[in-house]
Amino acid sequence: MDELKDFMAECKDKGVKITPQRLAVYKILAGKAKHPIINEIYEEIRRDYPSLSLNTIYKTIQLFIELGMVSQFTSREGVIRYEVKLAPHHHVLCLKCRKIHDVFDSSLDELKVSPPLKGGFEIIRHDVIFYGYCSKCKQEGR
Ligand SMILES: [Zn+2]
Ligand SMILES: [Zn+2]
Repeated sequence: MDELKDFMAECKDKGVKITPQRLAVYKILAGKAKHPIINEIYEEIRRDYPSLSLNTIYKTIQLFIELGMVSQFTSREGVIRYEVKLAPHHHVLCLKCRKIHDVFDSSLDELKVSPPLKGGFEIIRHDVIFYGYCSKCKQEGR
């Protein structure tokens, strides 16, 4: 996995110790379970590291976020989902199976909020989430 190599190089660069637990958390974030919530990471990691607490996993993810290696976004259910940092992108979420896909669209990256709506906020970043039904769920009749 290339991401893993990058991850290790970046940790070394930033003087972050690579523990097996940290590596395991990152692997899950970079792996097949895309955009997992923290409990999904916890469930998966417990198989290998039963003593790892939810709090430790949370702190590990926060560290990755501070280092700019992982990003988070809040989906409609109000839960925070995590993923390894890719190029700027947005998401589309299936309302039935809850699958989330990445959307790369530069016109969304350039989305502007008109000044009255900003309410004095200085906007740092944004992400857009589309909701609908994936092709599989559409076929199965929602
Ligand atoms: Zn679906
Ligand atoms: Zn994504």
